Amino acid sequence: MNIFNQAVSWVLPIIPKSIVKKVSERYIAGATLDDAMRTVRSLNAKGAMATVDVLGEFIHNLKQACDNTKYCCEVLRRQNKEGVNANLSIKLTSLGLAIDIAECEKNVREILITARENGNRFVRMDMENSPYTQQTIDLYRKLRKEFNNVGLVLQAYLRRTESDIDMLLKEGAALQIRTNIRLCKGIYVEAEEIAYKNREEIQHNYMRCLERLVSGGAYVGIATHDDVLIGEAKKLISKHNLTNDAFEFQMLLGVRDQVRDHLIREGYRLRVYVPFGEDWYGYSIRRLKENPQMAGYITKALLTGK
Ligand SMILES: Cc1cc2nc3c(=O)[nH]c(=O)nc-3n(C[C@H](O)[C@H](O)[C@H](O)COP(=O)(O)OP(=O)(O)OC[C@H]3O[C@@H](n4cnc5c(N)ncnc54)[C@H](O)[C@@H]3O)c2cc1C
Repeated sequence: MNIFNQAVSWVLPIIPKSIVKKVSERYIAGATLDDAMRTVRSLNAKGAMATVDVLGEFIHNLKQACDNTKYCCEVLRRQNKEGVNANLSIKLTSLGLAIDIAECEKNVREILITARENGNRFVRMDMENSPYTQQTIDLYRKLRKEFNNVGLVLQAYLRRTESDIDMLLKEGAALQIRTNIRLCKGIYVEAEEIAYKNREEIQHNYMRCLERLVSGGAYVGIATHDDVLIGEAKKLISKHNLTNDAFEFQMLLGVRDQVRDHLIREGYRLRVYVPFGEDWYGYSIRRLKENPQMAGYITKALLTGK
């Protein structure tokens, strides 16, 4: 991160929410399910698939977890009704993971059953910060024995990820279940003891993990906007003669649209992550911090209101 972005990043918490909202609009489909569906239809028309995320990770009680669960189910029913090419991504903390694991599992089951009843739509469990890594992996291991429409996210910045992949592939092979992983770098701030910090180290680990997933027969969502990783992933895809039923590229809404469109034109399957909802702040802050133009956007918005 350059020095100006670093400085703006420190003061982000005191920047008015109206300014943050304005500059992060590109990352969020809108406040309502109608907004999300409109974005999904427009992406489908451009040849992209979608995965929809109901924003709302910061909850305080199980009633909110239950409300989020119902909303996720509504998303799935609506996707099926409209026949769009989309699935669902869920954050387990928004479904109660930090409050009551058993309730969270119940909620995820309800979502998976609804997804199964609505065209056997796929549900991806996003990966959050490290206090939840093991619980998220464990829930995926448990549920994949009962549901064939569930997948997990792993983060290449975590030192443990390579061995998690080995364990999941081994266990999947024994159970004759195909492991389904979205591989991303990871977005949360983690301690050096558990996470690689250096950009090149993370890239190397990303490629090591991707190679393991691919050679182990997993289905992989290659989730990155990094030209180096996209280039290396393409080489790996050719080396292993991977067909479209083994992988897809994935990108975030509002990030590097030209690279996304180029991959689609090259014939790759590409899925866009479409977050929507009232609870936009936390997600927007994470995205802004990754934006190399963040300082410029915020300064312009502060000075001009645009
Ligand atoms: C589909 C998808 C799902 C994800 N799910 C998770 C998850 O479950 N858990 C998790 O921890 N992380 C998740 N992430 C986030 C991921 O971990 C990274 O933080 C994020 O993708 C940035 O890493 P990168 O590989 O794109 O590389 P970077 O080096 O960060 O980005 C490469 C280039 O892309 C551009 N870019 C990246 N971000 C932005 C931005 N916000 N605005 C403008 N330009 C940008 C810049 O030009 C940058 O140089 C997900 C990412 C994707 C694409």
